[in-house]
Amino acid sequence: MNTESKALRGHAVVIGGSVAGLLAARALSTSFEHVTVLERDVFPAHTVPRRGVPQGRQVHALLTRGAVGLDGLFPGFIDAMTAAGIPSGDGQADFTWFLDGHRMAKAESGLRGFGVSRPWIEAMIRDRVRELPNVFLSEGTQVDGLLVEGDRAIGVRTRRAEGAEESLPADLVVDAAGRGSRARTWLRELGYPAPEQTVVTTNVVYVTRHYKQEPGLLDGELGTTVVPYPGQPRAGVVIRQEADVVAVLLAGLLGEEPPTDDAGMLAFATGLDGQDAAEVLRSGTPVDDAVKMRYPESTLNHFDRLDRHLGGFLVVGDALCSFNPIYGQGMTVAVMEAELLESLLEDGDRKDLAPRYFEAAAALLVEPWSLAIGGDLRFPEVEGERGPQDEEVNAYLGSFRAAAAIDPVLGAAFLKVANMMAPVSSLFGPDLMERTQRALDA
Ligand SMILES: Cc1cc2nc3c(=O)[nH]c(=O)nc-3n(C[C@H](O)[C@H](O)[C@H](O)COP(=O)(O)OP(=O)(O)OC[C@H]3O[C@@H](n4cnc5c(N)ncnc54)[C@H](O)[C@@H]3O)c2cc1C
Repeated sequence: MNTESKALRGHAVVIGGSVAGLLAARALSTSFEHVTVLERDVFPAHTVPRRGVPQGRQVHALLTRGAVGLDGLFPGFIDAMTAAGIPSGDGQADFTWFLDGHRMAKAESGLRGFGVSRPWIEAMIRDRVRELPNVFLSEGTQVDGLLVEGDRAIGVRTRRAEGAEESLPADLVVDAAGRGSRARTWLRELGYPAPEQTVVTTNVVYVTRHYKQEPGLLDGELGTTVVPYPGQPRAGVVIRQEADVVAVLLAGLLGEEPPTDDAGMLAFATGLDGQDAAEVLRSGTPVDDAVKMRYPESTLNHFDRLDRHLGGFLVVGDALCSFNPIYGQGMTVAVMEAELLESLLEDGDRKDLAPRYFEAAAALLVEPWSLAIGGDLRFPEVEGERGPQDEEVNAYLGSFRAAAAIDPVLGAAFLKVANMMAPVSSLFGPDLMERTQRALDA
């Protein structure tokens, strides 16, 4: 971050002070003189879930690309996680993976995984954003609409609890209000076209519960993940987290629904590959109640396809694109969008920022969206556009997952892609194709 080499000018406003909003504020802080983050909630004093982020009660994975990106935006972030006692380990050697029912062979992958809760990550980002001298976090402030002049957003209408409506002028407005963003409605009301959406319905249901970390649980490993696959639309994650807890996530999709009572959760977990989740449920001591959350569909908003943009108005995070949470991509994509925003503003040219941003963000989203949707469309029940080569590609990737139980190099390659450290295309190199064949022939 270099704030001295160029003049900071103007005022930027961010709607929503969750992960994407805070990261956007960090990105804007190197170009704008003042940045105001407007958050409806009052931030909790501790690292506990809050109302505006209900998914905060569910297990979140921080992908390696996300951790590395956070460390770039806030140097020392990874060391601070370690210093705070966040459990971490190698994403392959210290973690058990079940892919299509096959247990992945273990080896050092060089990909570091962290057992960190969603509220903890947000609190840690928030602490760092609070230290930025030109960023102000305005809590308990709801944004009710945009102020517009000509073809530009010139601020927002805000309301504090029991207070009157106020106007807050701004040179740039960034919507980071999450899946409940009203950007499309606001644009329509202002006479602008609303972006088309691609929606993929998977009806994911999450149930998370935390248990006391006791000797013997997980045998010193960081965790286990059972990935859902066609014919087995159930997933499970067990992970050690901060504050000496083990989090258990049970997930179902396409009509599968994990229960929240003890016996029902155990029965659901017993049906999963491996028995780590079932073992924790059977022998662990719960520290809270099980919490359920539904995530019906993934949504990609195509702002880049609009032929008329509202100047000075950008959208980031889940408000722009929200992914099936099974793939753990949301926070990492928010990090990448913040990196993009900072780089677009770097040369001081703010002309046509909205179309330039939305075009670049759409390009950034191609890889994570196709990774997630590619996984969803393996399930024949999921509606969506399938290409002529999908069958062949899925057959190869099916063999790849089976072979990863034998050759750890294949597992490492898979995890690199899943952690967004390498593109999906990297799995199709001749070397990995040969290794897949060799492993299955052995
Ligand atoms: C069940 C589930 C599991 C997930 N698991 C993972 C995972 O494993 N890994 C991962 O990386 N991601 C995961 N995600 C996604 C991740 O939670 C989000 O991508 C991440 O929180 C960033 O979202 P966001 O900041 O865009 O929006 P949110 O986190 O939804 O925050 C929106 C914020 O805007 C505020 N707000 C809304 N409207 C207004 C308004 N009008 N005025 C002022 N404030 C407003 C809200 O109070 C809130 O603070 C998961 C999501 C779900 C639903």
